[in-house]
Amino acid sequence: MGGEQDKTGGVATDTAALDRELAGDLFTSREAWNNLVVLCDRFGSRFGGTEGEIGARDYLVAKMKEYGLDNPHTEEFAYNGWFRGTAQLEVTSPVVKEFPCISLPYTGTADVEAEFLYVGHGTPADFESLRNQIPGKIVMVSAWSPNYYRRGIHRCEKIGRAIALGAKGFIWMRWDAGFLPETGAARWNREVEVPCVGVGREYGEEINRLARKGPVRVRIRTKNDIRPGTKSWNVVGDITGRDHPNEVMVIGAHFDGHDIAPGAMDDGSGAVVTLEIARALARQRGRVGRTLRFICFPLEEIGLIGSYAYVEAHRAELDQHKFMVNLDAAGRGSESGGISLAGDRTELVRPIRAAGAATGQPTMADNALSLYSDHLPFFLAGVPAGSYTRMGPVPGAGTSGVRGWGHTAADTLDKVNPANLQAAAMHIARLMLQLSNVAPWPARRQTEAQVKDILEDYRLGEVLRLELRYPFKG
Ligand SMILES: [Zn+2]
Repeated sequence: MGGEQDKTGGVATDTAALDRELAGDLFTSREAWNNLVVLCDRFGSRFGGTEGEIGARDYLVAKMKEYGLDNPHTEEFAYNGWFRGTAQLEVTSPVVKEFPCISLPYTGTADVEAEFLYVGHGTPADFESLRNQIPGKIVMVSAWSPNYYRRGIHRCEKIGRAIALGAKGFIWMRWDAGFLPETGAARWNREVEVPCVGVGREYGEEINRLARKGPVRVRIRTKNDIRPGTKSWNVVGDITGRDHPNEVMVIGAHFDGHDIAPGAMDDGSGAVVTLEIARALARQRGRVGRTLRFICFPLEEIGLIGSYAYVEAHRAELDQHKFMVNLDAAGRGSESGGISLAGDRTELVRPIRAAGAATGQPTMADNALSLYSDHLPFFLAGVPAGSYTRMGPVPGAGTSGVRGWGHTAADTLDKVNPANLQAAAMHIARLMLQLSNVAPWPARRQTEAQVKDILEDYRLGEVLRLELRYPFKG
C-alpha cells in the first residue's frame, strides 16, 4: 500500500500519504465540536419556525462556503408549522390532581375528558387484547420499544393504533426515571386527530396506581398553533466528482432538534459531522470519484419534512442519485459501527465492508428498515439508502429500547464527547471517499413495485397506513 501511486486531480500522489493527511486532519480538528457549540448555544433547538432555525440555516451555508463546497445554497419549501402553546393533564376522579405534561407536536387545541386506560408498551398484541376497551378512552402507553418482528415499535405507530381503535386522547409515558417528559411528533406535517401529551415516568405510574384500584377519569387540555404555509429550507452543498460529476452520493443529517432541547446528540451531532466530512473532503477533492452532496435537513423531528421536500424537488434527477447515507445522531455512540441499508440492498453489503476494510475500520453493513429518519424518503423513491449507526451505550438510557436523553430537555452539549465526533467524521469520510470511487456502482434505483414488496416483507406497509403516510396507491 505504502508506495502505491494514484492519479488524483491529474497529479500523481501517494494514496497512503493522503490518507494519513486526511486522518490527521480529522483527528486534530476541533471544528465539529466548535460548530456544535454554536448550533446549540447560539441557535437553541433550531426547531422549525424558530429564529434559531434561520440562524442555523445561515450559519450552515456560510460554513459550506468557507469550506469551499461547490454551490452552497438553500432550497425553500412550505409546510404546516407547529407552534407550542400550553398543555394540562388532570385526574378528575376519584381524586382531583394535576400532573405536569407537554403537548406532542402536531397536537392542536382540544379539551377532552374520558376514562383512563393503560395499554402497557403498546405492542400490536397489547392493543389487540384491549381492542374492545379502547374506544372513547384516554389511553396511556409507555415509551419502551420492545423488539417486534425485526423492528422496534415507534411512538407514531402506537399513536396510530390507539387512534384507529377509537382512543379520545393519548398519554406518552417516558420509560426511564427522572420526571422528564419525552417529546416526539404525534403525526407528521398534519394535525393529529386527538390530543397527545407526554409525561414523566413517575407521573404516569402514579396514575397507573390509581387506575389499579378502580376507574379513573382524566382530562387533557391543549392549546397549540398549526400554521400552513410556514417556510423552511434545506441547506445543500457539493464536492463535484472527478470521474462521475453527474452521479450523486448524498451525505445528510437533520439540523433541527425538538423545541424543548438543544438537540445536541439528536441531531446537532449528525449535522456537525456532516459538515466536518465536507470540510475535510473538500481539501481532497481531486480524489472524490462521484459528486458528494452534503445536505443539512430541517424538520426531521416533525416528519422528515426537509428530506421529503428534497426528494420531491429533485424527483427528475433521482436516477442519478446513487446512494444516500443518513447521519442521524452520528456523533453519539463511542464505538465504530456501520451502515443499516434501507430495505434490501444486499448488493452493497460487500462493497461497504470492503471499503471499511481498506481504511482499516471494521464496518458493518446489513439490511434493515426504519421508517423514522431522513433516509426514508430516498428509500421510498427507490434510491439506494442507508443510515450510519455507531455502537456503544446510548447516553442516558437505563435499558435498551429507549431513547436515552434524546427527545428530552436533557439532550445537551455535556452529553456529547468531542472525540466521538472526530471518530465518526473520520470513519464516514474515508468510507464515502472509497465508495465514491467504486465503479461500476452495483446498486440501482428500485421500482415502486420493489419498494412496496420490501415494505410488506418487513410488515411496515400496515404501519405506514396507520401513521397516515403510506405513499402509494392501493
Ligand atoms: Zn434525529
